[in-house]
Amino acid sequence: MDPLQCKACGSDHFVQGRMGNGATSVKPIDKLSGGSFIMLTFCSECGEVSSIKVENPSKFK
Ligand SMILES: [Zn+2]
Repeated sequence: MDPLQCKACGSDHFVQGRMGNGATSVKPIDKLSGGSFIMLTFCSECGEVSSIKVENPSKFK
């Protein structure tokens, strides 16, 4: 994993979290089922988000 540096505070301590409270948080608009969580990578010092990713983009193909 590439070393990250926070653009807000300069810290290189990042953690990951998952958006969605027990349910999928992003769903394909043209399908009834499926979907994915959103993964956030953010600075553990100040909370600046460096990356937002859909966890399972293949479910949208
Ligand atoms: Zn920071």
